[in-house]
Amino acid sequence: MPEPLPIRRLEDSVINRIAAGEIIQRPSSALKELLENSLDAGSTSIKITVKDGGMKLLQIQDNGCGIRKEDLPVLAQRFTTSKISSFEDLQSLQTYGFRGEALASISYVSNLSVITKTKADECAWKATYEDGVLISKDGSPAAPKPCAGNDGTTIMAENLFYNTPARLSALRSSSEEYSRILDVVTKYAVHNPRVSFSCKKAGSPTPELSTPSASSVKDAIGITYGQTIAKALLHVQIPLPEEAPHAESMDVDEEKRWSADIYCTNPNYQAKKLVLLLFINHRLVESTRIRKAVEAVYVGILPKGMSPFIYVSLQIDPHAVDVNVHPTKREVHFLDEEIIIQRVSDAIHDALIDENESRTFEYQT
Ligand code: ADP
Ligand code: MG
Repeated sequence: MPEPLPIRRLEDSVINRIAAGEIIQRPSSALKELLENSLDAGSTSIKITVKDGGMKLLQIQDNGCGIRKEDLPVLAQRFTTSKISSFEDLQSLQTYGFRGEALASISYVSNLSVITKTKADECAWKATYEDGVLISKDGSPAAPKPCAGNDGTTIMAENLFYNTPARLSALRSSSEEYSRILDVVTKYAVHNPRVSFSCKKAGSPTPELSTPSASSVKDAIGITYGQTIAKALLHVQIPLPEEAPHAESMDVDEEKRWSADIYCTNPNYQAKKLVLLLFINHRLVESTRIRKAVEAVYVGILPKGMSPFIYVSLQIDPHAVDVNVHPTKREVHFLDEEIIIQRVSDAIHDALIDENESRTFEYQT
């Protein structure tokens, strides 16, 4: 039997590094947080540069509202946010962020620096952080340094996981980490067709991904996933009850306010792997239940083992979504999950049947 040992509180730096590891599991999860911050800031252009799968450098440049110089000292502290100020605010959340943990976490597991300029600023300001704290690199008192820069914010995370070797060795090759990054950026580019996105490897002249601003979801799918998919897309919408033509005939459960915007490929298109883009209240999430349900719709429609491309954007009353589940906010839970999933599957099914019937009709005439 072991001797009981004294119970001691861990040092803050250890606690924070552990917590950071839960939010930032790999370069693509850091990138997702940074992307969401840029979108929250109202950016219309987001440029990403990646070195060594994001392990050496993850840089994201936006043209959003910028960060006020006076906020820079607290920027990377845990639980500092401009997005909510009370618990009640969570119920009407309109932004991606709210925990104020992303930049803090990144600063605990990488070398974080920020260059930012608001419209009101005459020059840009640069700040560097370590473990949540503003630092100076040359021994002078820690303060933001003036520098040249455009309106907006550039965030650089270098040497990700340099101080958590276990996490670093759990990562895959840099090419696989890069493809995960590209996957996240591509999905956000489809969901935000009015924002121009680019993503490239440092030193490479041409980006792997580049989308124009002011396009449509369909155009964005064509540019990113290819014209074959774009040409096969069916657009299915489930409107809010009051927008529906026969609102009075809606079921009782329809009183819950939600709507869906769906693009799915018709029976002419088939791929070896399902591509599913799922956004709930504009946040990229994963849901095994939705994945299985929409996959099931195509069984019997596509040859065995073949899969479609599906983009689903669900908008659910923020009151009905619990975003406060996990720091990564990937696993979103919401009321009436079953009913909503059923209705989405039915809508896709009906569209596919309609499409099939009209095709048969075309052949006959
Ligand atoms: P959260 O997004 O949960 O508020 P973060 O740690 O991601 O927490 O960011 C902290 C704060 O820093 C944000 O609330 C926002 O005010 C500011 N911020 C972060 N990134 C940007 C950006 N790209 N442009 C403007 N402000 C930003
Ligand atoms: Mg954030």
